[in-house]
Amino acid sequence: MNSVALVTGASRGIGRATALLLGQQGYAVGINYLSNETAAQGVVDEIVKAGGRAIVLQADIAEEAEVVAMFQRITGEFGPITALVNNAGILFQQSTIENLSAARINKVLSTNVTGYFLCCREAVKIMSHRHGGNGGAIVNVSSAASRLGAPGEYVDYAASKGAVDTLTTGLALEVAAYGIRVNCVRPGLIYTDIHASGGEPGRVDRVKANLPMQRGGQPEEVAQAIAWLLSDSASYVTGSFLELAGGK
Ligand code: NAP
Repeated sequence: MNSVALVTGASRGIGRATALLLGQQGYAVGINYLSNETAAQGVVDEIVKAGGRAIVLQADIAEEAEVVAMFQRITGEFGPITALVNNAGILFQQSTIENLSAARINKVLSTNVTGYFLCCREAVKIMSHRHGGNGGAIVNVSSAASRLGAPGEYVDYAASKGAVDTLTTGLALEVAAYGIRVNCVRPGLIYTDIHASGGEPGRVDRVKANLPMQRGGQPEEVAQAIAWLLSDSASYVTGSFLELAGGK
């Protein structure tokens, strides 16, 4: 089968590592990004240089029309997608609730929740046996924050990831009979740029001693779990959550 994966937020961090791994595994990969075109093109170049297939896909996942156009573009280029990695996510400056504005909360929710829903919707339309599709697999990237709540840092972000967990559970049940598996990974402290968005680039090193494994994780370690959940090796796995959080 022609394996085609769309990875949102694939220009950097966990999405980038996942896209590179899927490219190595023979998927044609759509590299979605928001604004860092140079980084996204770099991921495409790396995949192509290694003999794989990839294209950049600029789109804000919170914008419905842009999501629809992105799915049309990847389908036109590579054929129907067989895998979706819902990965693009944001957080803002660490803060207690007193300083959270409606604008900030809505921005987090529109990207981390509405964006995931829109991408799932478009993927289901393509993959579902109900619509003549060949099936497929979706992995949602949630966070250990959905369990831990991120007090004093970003409860808004943690709550958005709680919604991702529930989306995973509900959608997995809704489409299980139509050839689509939906699973979730919950990373903990991973070395990426996201911590700089929270105002603390060195956050992983500050708090890693609190983890049972006493170290942060690498994006490649999360990518391996995502690739497994997408693969036929996980053919009887749906509605599952994999913790990638060093034991906490
Ligand atoms: P990151 O390094 O900050 O990268 C974020 C990626 O998302 C970039 O590719 C960015 O594109 C893209 N993006 C942001 N907003 C977007 C939008 N509206 N539309 C499309 N793309 C958008 O993040 P990361 O740490 O790899 O995080 C990836 C996922 O893992 C997120 O869902 C995050 O919540 C989750 N996670 C991360 C950790 C961690 O410790 N790092 C822990 C738990 C969960 P540009 O390059 O164009 O800006």
